[in-house]
Amino acid sequence: MAPPAGKHRGLLDTLTVAERPRVRVMLPLPLAGAYDYRVPPELDLAPGDVVTVPLGQREVFGVVWDPLPEASGVAEHRLKPVLARRDVPPMTATLRRFIDWVAAYTLSPPGAVLRMALSAPGAFDPAEPRAGWMLAPPGNSQPRLTPERRRVLAALQPGQVLAGPRLAEAAGVSSGVLRGMAENGLLRPALLAHGPRFAPPDPDHPGPVLAGPQAEAGAALCARVAARAFGVTLLSGVTGSGKTEVYFDAVAECLRQGRQALVLLPEIALSAQWLDRFRARFGVAPALWHSELSPKTRRDTWRAVAEGEVGVLVGARSALFLPFPDLGLVVVDEEHETAFKQEEGVIYHARDMAVVRARIAAAACVLVSATPSLESLTNAEAGRYALQHLPSRHGGATLPKVRAVDLRVHAPERGKFLSPPLVAAVTATLARGEQAMLFLNRRGYAPLTLCRACGHRMRCPNCTAWLVEHRAQRRLTCHHCGHVEAPPTACPECAAEHSLTAVGPGVERVQEEAAALWPEARRLVMASDNIQGPAAAAAAAEQISRRSVDLIIGTQIVAKGWHFPHLTLVGVVDADLGLAGGDLRAAERTVQLLHQVAGRAGRAEAPGEVLLQSFSPDHPVMQALESNDLDAFMIAEAEMRRPGHWPPFGRLAALIVSSEDERTAERLARDLGLAAPSGDGVQVLGPAPAPLALLRGRHRHRLLLKCRRDIAVQPLLREWLAKVEVPGTARLQVDVDPVGFM
Ligand code: ADP
Ligand code: ZN
Repeated sequence: MAPPAGKHRGLLDTLTVAERPRVRVMLPLPLAGAYDYRVPPELDLAPGDVVTVPLGQREVFGVVWDPLPEASGVAEHRLKPVLARRDVPPMTATLRRFIDWVAAYTLSPPGAVLRMALSAPGAFDPAEPRAGWMLAPPGNSQPRLTPERRRVLAALQPGQVLAGPRLAEAAGVSSGVLRGMAENGLLRPALLAHGPRFAPPDPDHPGPVLAGPQAEAGAALCARVAARAFGVTLLSGVTGSGKTEVYFDAVAECLRQGRQALVLLPEIALSAQWLDRFRARFGVAPALWHSELSPKTRRDTWRAVAEGEVGVLVGARSALFLPFPDLGLVVVDEEHETAFKQEEGVIYHARDMAVVRARIAAAACVLVSATPSLESLTNAEAGRYALQHLPSRHGGATLPKVRAVDLRVHAPERGKFLSPPLVAAVTATLARGEQAMLFLNRRGYAPLTLCRACGHRMRCPNCTAWLVEHRAQRRLTCHHCGHVEAPPTACPECAAEHSLTAVGPGVERVQEEAAALWPEARRLVMASDNIQGPAAAAAAAEQISRRSVDLIIGTQIVAKGWHFPHLTLVGVVDADLGLAGGDLRAAERTVQLLHQVAGRAGRAEAPGEVLLQSFSPDHPVMQALESNDLDAFMIAEAEMRRPGHWPPFGRLAALIVSSEDERTAERLARDLGLAAPSGDGVQVLGPAPAPLALLRGRHRHRLLLKCRRDIAVQPLLREWLAKVEVPGTARLQVDVDPVGFM
């Protein structure tokens, strides 16, 4: 292909001209693939080189891609030249193959996948020399020396250059002091030498000594890493059994092998304690990769990874696309987490793609979880993955006792949400001077605002969703599109005054109830509304560890990996919450989430207790949690999915049609339905309006392709999509292996 240049085609197009060197260049643009460009004589290009090329009126970055078996038919004179090669290490063949693989698997344009791999603006520009300060040679004037200035002079060796912020910190002064000293001839600006951006983690830094099954699992993982070949291990084990310490050993082995390790965490913003543990084990912090990095850190990190300067990187799912020159280990911690699924743009599951990335790089892959997904368990059972299991908590800590509280029997007071047994348990825990946690996976004050006079419900104008009240901010908010309005004083439907009433609880409402019940207790609400970003999460965790909090009230952000030794009681306010909706994995996910939350209790000497408030305490989910027999639950779950060829015993792909125009969306969905593939082991469900029929002002319909496991969905999808034209006013998203069904 040649880039779109204009409409005119001339006679010359059909002539063959003596071929001069040309290359395919992949452009990081969602709609583009690779285009052919001419190689000017002064450039010697190889696949992987990062180059600048013209595209229309613009100059864009691209990567020289591997040649196709057959040359494209684009005529020589229509080719534009490559403008320059950028001064960055070439993209490795493994990363190029990975990008092609992800694009083909997810049916995304390779350019869209490449864009994720180049998502570090400025990383291809030459590194800017950084300025710092050094001591000025002694002059004639004798400027005044304050104690602050003396500290600065003491912090600098003759000839040494320090960056402003580092020097200011070392001397405990503000940057204004440094500028003042420069004006008075005490300091002068100088260029910083370009040292390593990331200190290397030390694999032999003294760390905890693995014991018993931990040592066995650690040795097995290390052997996998040392083999320098692809292989997947599922590392399971109860919460607090030492899984993190075990895979740290594998990371250490990877460093000794001189290769890079990548650790994916589902929510990097909540990983403050994980980072402390890493520092304790390896002596330095790892490199980080997530969406909240500053552009400069992003650029530096990308470059340092490309230059092989980063030994260990911990990141969110997008870190999979970083240019590691020699990846030796990929760890996916909390592998069951749905946060690993990216639902926008290129729709992919980072856990599954991590396995692919490791395979292409000939690296070891470790999937870690206390509650592994049925997918990974099934792979382990089939022998595709090795399995390492840690059966008990480290240091003799026992697992918490889990008990369901039947809300039909122990009803909370009217308008309240905490049952008498839960209230009594919290009271007793606080009286013992221990910490308690109330968990409710719902932000805000109330999920529904209803008119008592006419029954009107406050809905989002752009989405099929109720508005959630956030009382502290005096707002009604849509959690899907961010629409915000002030709570009206009269019903918008019947105009009745003061008739709007909050229905159901969110964490803010539980906090209100807790404040009335335990006014003395120091309470902390942890939800994404008030805990924004890594620093806030770290500060909250620190407060809990220091015991300056007695009662924690939180959403799912409190479920993740935290280790709070003084927390002994967890109360789940609505254990039935995740079970509604009839999603394929609703039960599995609820067990995983609640087991994680429960795992926060009793992680040290004092035993833990967990109460699950439920209207259906006999539900298999509650039973599994009470008996702490997740294996039995997963076996039963597998037996429910196997006969109907539901994942992981079959394959799914969803098509999501949307348009601002209702008729357009409906028509496209119908056309897709008419063109749907059929055959033995192939089934298409829908089209049907999506449960979220309206989202951000777009009307949505869904179709679901279900296949036997031995049938690949991509060829079917490609053939199917080729039959239907998508109008410009509609969008068609393909979701292979869907996790959400909304
Ligand atoms: P998991 O990842 O399975 O939840 P962790 O690795 O977080 O478990 O371990 C739980 C706690 O026990 C952590 O504080 C960890 O440092 C500690 N720990 C685990 N194994 C050991 C060990 N062998 N020696 C000392 N401390 C350990
Ligand atoms: Zn909305």
